[in-house]
Amino acid sequence: MNKLENKVAIVTGASRGIGKVIAEEIAKYGAKTVCVSRSESDIKKVSDGINNDGFSSISIACDITNSDDFQKLVKTVVGQFGSVDILINNAGITKDNLIMRMSDEDWNIVIDTNLKGAFNGTKAVIRHMMKQRSGRIINISSVVGLMGNAGQANYSASKAGLIGLTKATAKELASRGITANCIAPGYIETDMTEQLSDKIKDTLIEQIPLRRIGQPKDIASTVCFLASDEAGYITGQTITVDGGMVM
Ligand code: NDP
Repeated sequence: MNKLENKVAIVTGASRGIGKVIAEEIAKYGAKTVCVSRSESDIKKVSDGINNDGFSSISIACDITNSDDFQKLVKTVVGQFGSVDILINNAGITKDNLIMRMSDEDWNIVIDTNLKGAFNGTKAVIRHMMKQRSGRIINISSVVGLMGNAGQANYSASKAGLIGLTKATAKELASRGITANCIAPGYIETDMTEQLSDKIKDTLIEQIPLRRIGQPKDIASTVCFLASDEAGYITGQTITVDGGMVM
């Protein structure tokens, strides 16, 4: 279970849902885990829980849409732990509407959070990773970034953008020993999908060959693998974790 021992990992959007479970799992594998979200109290609860279980974590509140704040966060992490080895760009939001009715504000905030937030994080960590000549960047996209989805033009564009960002990052940084990969989850049981009616959930399950909605742990185990030394020859890839929905 110690395959990430001595590694320092930053997980954005770790206050709940998929990010919380990623932070908990990556800490179990031995990484010093930095939990990030906007809410100082929520994020502290998560890192306190990790520490109480005997693993290592700190929390830092940060709005990832602010590039300067992300730079400061990484400076604090490197100051405290001496390195940053793994970045998991997981934080994301939805503001769904049909294109005809979508406000500029809702378009901008989704792109700023889901896509620019990941760019901000990547830009903030790579200087340190380049010096170390090693690093792992893992972006959490979505199957919707591959397929598109009516009512989610902003979200689909941000998630497709993340796939492009991942490939560019992988190509730019491969020579420095840094890998960048994307995970495209299908429907995962979190606050984000809680608002779906039972009828919609049943229809979704019919489209999933493995006949169940995914759990945050399904994503977290893939993250732990991609973050490990065993995944050292994988870069620029998008791995769908969706019960076989997209194939
Ligand atoms: P949740 O809504 O449960 O959690 C979102 C997290 O992001 C929270 O911790 C939130 O914390 C944080 N966050 C939002 N905006 C910001 C910001 N500006 N700065 C810092 N943190 C922020 O989402 P899920 O766990 O369901 O989703 C996690 C990721 O997985 C997202 O990128 C999502 O798009 C993706 N995904 C989810 C799927 C699903 O079915 N659930 C399917 C496919 C992809 P706070 O509010 O405190 O800032």
